[in-house]
Order: sequence, then C-alpha cells, then structure tokens
Amino acid sequence: MFENLQDRLGSILNGLTGRGALSEADVSAALREVRRALLEADVALDVVRSFTDRVREKAVGAEILKSIKPGQMVVKIVHDELIEMLGGEGVGIDLHAAAPVVVMMVGLQGSGKTTTTAKIANRLSTREKKKVLMASLDTRRPAAQEQLRQLGAQANIDTLPVIAGQSPTDIAARAVQAAKLGGHDVVILDTAGRTHIDEPLMVEMADIKKRSNPHEILLVADSLTGQDAVNLARNFDERVGITGLVLTRMDGDGRGGAALSMRAVTGKPIKLIGVGEKMSELEEFHPRRIADRILG
Ligand code: GDP
Repeated sequence: MFENLQDRLGSILNGLTGRGALSEADVSAALREVRRALLEADVALDVVRSFTDRVREKAVGAEILKSIKPGQMVVKIVHDELIEMLGGEGVGIDLHAAAPVVVMMVGLQGSGKTTTTAKIANRLSTREKKKVLMASLDTRRPAAQEQLRQLGAQANIDTLPVIAGQSPTDIAARAVQAAKLGGHDVVILDTAGRTHIDEPLMVEMADIKKRSNPHEILLVADSLTGQDAVNLARNFDERVGITGLVLTRMDGDGRGGAALSMRAVTGKPIKLIGVGEKMSELEEFHPRRIADRILG
C-alpha cells in the first residue's frame, strides 16, 4: 500500500512549525507529493495540473498555525479543494418536467449502462413510486435488448416490446409515445454503446436526442477508466451534451480518480454511483468520501 498523503506531507513540512508562512518552495515540495497521489489514483494528467495550480494559489503564503501541523494544514487545503472540484452532494435524477420525463443513458459498451438503467428505474419505482418504462435502443445487439427485458421482469418494471427492424430513433419515438399512452412518469432510453468512441455512435446519440427530447442525458462510465476518462467525458459532453454522470464499479479497488477527471472537464454533476452488480447497488454520490479515497 502507498504511504498516505498526510504522512508524506508530514515528513516534508512538519519541520516548519513556528516558521511564519508557507513559502513557494515548501508548497512546491508538497505539491510534488499531491501530484503523485493523484496520479496513483488515476486522475488525468491535465486535471492534476489544474488542481495543483489551484492548491498552490491557496497554500503559498498561508500562515503556519501553532495548533495544526503544516502537513495537516496542506492536506486540509487539498481535501477541501478536491471536495469543491468534485461538486455538490446528493444531486439526484431531475424529474422536474412534464411526464413522461425522458432520461437518456449514454456510454461505452461494457460500462454498465444496461444494469444502471434498470437500477435507476428500480430506484425511481420503489423510492419515488414512479411508473417507469425502459426501452433498449441497441439494435445491433439483440442480447442487450433481452438483458434489459429480463432485468425489467425481475424488478417488475415495464419494458418496451421489441419490434424487429426498427431504427434506434424510431424506437426512441415509440418509447415516448408508449409512455404517454401507458401513463408512465418516466421513460429511460438505454442507448447502444461501442467499444470506443466513433463518429457513427455520436451521430446516433445526437439523432436520438433530437427525436426524444430528453430531460436528462446521463453518461455511464466505468470508474476504473484511467487517463481515457477525460477524452470520453469531453466527447460525449461536446457532441451530445450530458446533464450528469453515473460512475459504475465504485465497489472495485480503484481509487476513483476518474470521478475528478470527468467532473473537471464537463462541470456536470456526478449523480449516482454503482457499487455492485445487484439491482439495489446504486448509491448517491458523496464528494467527501471520494476525496478521502483519492487521497488514499
Ligand atoms: P453495458 O454494455 O454498458 O450495458 O454494460 P452492462 O450493464 O451489461 O454491464 C457490464 C457488466 O458490468 C455486467 O456484468 C454488470 O453486472 C457489471 N456491472 C455494472 N455495474 C456494476 C457496478 O457498479 N459494480 C460491479 N461490480 N459490476 C457492475
């Protein structure tokens, strides 16, 4: 295991106790360790750079207090800044729109999109007593459509029946129509993923958006994504325009640096996190917990 940041900074800075203010050189030495900790947590390089710049601004010249060790003081500045950058607490799915509220799920194949679609539907249905319809728009993989149907049957959530030969945009329009007729409060569109970002995927997502007018567009991303996180989030946000993020596999060993990277490049809130394969394993995002984890 890595030595934690507090200990690392303690050995660099604690000798300064009683010496007035933190100098540029003290802070630079500390920031080398902060940078190392963030890179170990898989935060993207660009984001590490802008983050350490922000911390530098706050830390240089900061008065060294008698009551707290300089190492702890810098850890607190880093921690507070991380929480601020990670954004607000408990931002749920926004359902403030005329029913049926359309929620569009986007992301790469294997990110956990279909599972998360069902988890969100289950949450809205059990906690908020909403009537939810789910529709799979993945016409390239019949197995994906069947997976969503099974998850729906398991959780007692309606799924849109499959009509062979329909395009994703036609399915999206039919889902919205079916939700209107069926008195559903929410319709969740589980779009197709690809193994990587490509032009046809982005065009398809933009077309679906145009046809279904979603109130929420949630990018589902694997929290174990490393340096690619920035590229992924930026592409989906610029080309489709996301309203929030859902990070999956937060139950894994990863330190969650992707959360910071994706939040930093899009400015969009992390709405929920996936913490397991089971339907109930979806939680609200708590920036403080992720900050602790990133710092190790
Ligand atoms: P999709 O291709 O994006 O629709 O991905 P799936 O929803 O099919 O998920 C791919 C795999 O990841 C499945 O085996 C899921 O059970 C698993 N999975 C999804 N979310 C989580 C999570 O939060 N934690 C864990 N451990 N596994 C997850």
